[in-house]
Amino acid sequence: MAPRIYKSPYPDRPIVQHSLYAHLFPENAKHPAHLPAYVDAASGATLIRSQVEDLALRFAQGVITKKSAKRGDTLMLFSPNSLCWPVVVFGALAAGLRITFANVSYTPDELKHQYTDSHAYLICTTRGNLKPVIKMLQAVAPSVAEAERRVIILPDDFNWIPDAPRTKAMKPIPRLTALDELLGLGKLERVERFDGVDAEQETAFLCYSSGTTGNPKGVQTTHQNLTTVLDIVYVGFPVITPKDDRMLAVLPFYHIYGLVKLLLYPFMCGVTTIVMEHFDPIKFCQSVERYKATISLIVPPVLVIMARHDCVKQYDMSSLRVLFSGAAPLGGDLVKAVKKRLRPTNEPSLHIVQGYGLTETSPTTHLQHLKDESRFGCIGDLLPNLEVRLVVDDRDGMAKTDDEVVDAKEGEPGEIWIRGPSIMKGYLNNPTANSNSFYPYSSPPPSKYVPGSLWFKTGDVGLVDRDGYFWIVDRKKELIKYKGFQVPPAELESVLLAHPNIADAAVISVESARESTELPRAYIVPADPPSDPVTFGREVQAWIKTKVARHKFLRGGVIVVEVIPKSASGKILRRHLKNQALKELGGK
Ligand code: AMP
Repeated sequence: MAPRIYKSPYPDRPIVQHSLYAHLFPENAKHPAHLPAYVDAASGATLIRSQVEDLALRFAQGVITKKSAKRGDTLMLFSPNSLCWPVVVFGALAAGLRITFANVSYTPDELKHQYTDSHAYLICTTRGNLKPVIKMLQAVAPSVAEAERRVIILPDDFNWIPDAPRTKAMKPIPRLTALDELLGLGKLERVERFDGVDAEQETAFLCYSSGTTGNPKGVQTTHQNLTTVLDIVYVGFPVITPKDDRMLAVLPFYHIYGLVKLLLYPFMCGVTTIVMEHFDPIKFCQSVERYKATISLIVPPVLVIMARHDCVKQYDMSSLRVLFSGAAPLGGDLVKAVKKRLRPTNEPSLHIVQGYGLTETSPTTHLQHLKDESRFGCIGDLLPNLEVRLVVDDRDGMAKTDDEVVDAKEGEPGEIWIRGPSIMKGYLNNPTANSNSFYPYSSPPPSKYVPGSLWFKTGDVGLVDRDGYFWIVDRKKELIKYKGFQVPPAELESVLLAHPNIADAAVISVESARESTELPRAYIVPADPPSDPVTFGREVQAWIKTKVARHKFLRGGVIVVEVIPKSASGKILRRHLKNQALKELGGK
């Protein structure tokens, strides 16, 4: 049978061959140099567009001169959102580096996994995040001097921005290079470094994702994946204009969603981004009022807060015209509750829409148009240049030809497979994961990356309705998402198995309707039966907090059991445990 392929309703966009840097800073600038590009929400400190370019090229020169960075080296960025981000990210791109982004709540062990797996060399961090960095480097760098050579400290003040109001300078940290120092070493000329990039093959970003199973893996996102996604999002989300819009950035830049949609996309469009270090309900509302923010990208738990928190009534929220949700399912009741709260009379209009995508798809593949906002729960249209299949059977991932693949019938659900030029090059140094993630199955996977040639298996189950709109109806893969952050069960299970009194473990998710998120819940088999299983479960819940980042805490509970249900081949029967959890929680 011929495969059933869904195409985007939009015409394809031309695929460009230049680097991401050249895309963001074209020779003939599209937007005025004096336009504010990034504003620090708390202080009002501002980077105008010309300063972003000047400081990025200075950073590039600094890392080349002082840190001997070479094209293709990997720089790790381990910092909360700040005005340093565009300088470091665009500067590293100008220097021909690839960048890996780490979650700021990572423990030294989690950091070490990503740092070593990505072959990172330089690490940019803040004073506040230095402790885990030092601890991690002590374990991996050959000497203290070498560890110190790798660190770049990002400032907490704005004294490094020309024209920003000066504050009292912080004392330098002995032997560690400060950003300001790098910015003073001259400016990289616009040369081959970034113009000579092989955009199709060279990796720009290495975000980490567990994919359908296992531990976090480095997702190789090429320059062309990124230039493509920026251009196709522009087609599907053309509601952003330099003159009228201000984007409020509350999501972390270290997740691909924040990175592409908040750091890169508004800059490409000439729109000002108001940067918040992290989401805080009161500061969010204050910033909407202070900067007359018009658009914000959020995750469903932020909407839950907006539906309930008193602060939305205390500040002027009338400038907001679009709230754009992503990274997790968005329910209609929540949308209605927020609209009722923020716009009881529907004036001025406020649209709440959502998009869908994955780290591996750079990320956005589907966007809900403003006119379709009342199709609650729908993820909208497929973006240009992309194709989708909905698959019900692929011989347990081993299908090599279309004869071995069964597509869903019209209107029925199937696993979403996506093909197109914004789909990642593959996981870094992980042929097994690459064989398993792409169709046709091939072991080892093809050695040459040909953009758009293979189908990527998302692990999400979706359907297309009669009007051609896409819906997510289930998740086939193991992944748990806590407030938009990935929680890979396999990773938590291996941490649990390192506990001296745990013989076996399985982690699944339970839904929290109150917070509109999934919560990780563990089932554990003690090596020695404890006298009080409930207390032991609580102890393990506390113990895990010393081992993993905050979003991986076992907020859904820890349950002591005699045995973990498994298939004949030893696979954890997660559906079985999910049903058990539903019963334990009274079907809530
Ligand atoms: P990440 O790679 O961290 O961006 O996570 C990607 C996963 O988040 C997807 O595979 C989905 O399971 C989930 N996801 C993202 N957007 C949505 C959405 N709008 N609705 C439902 N699930 C979503």
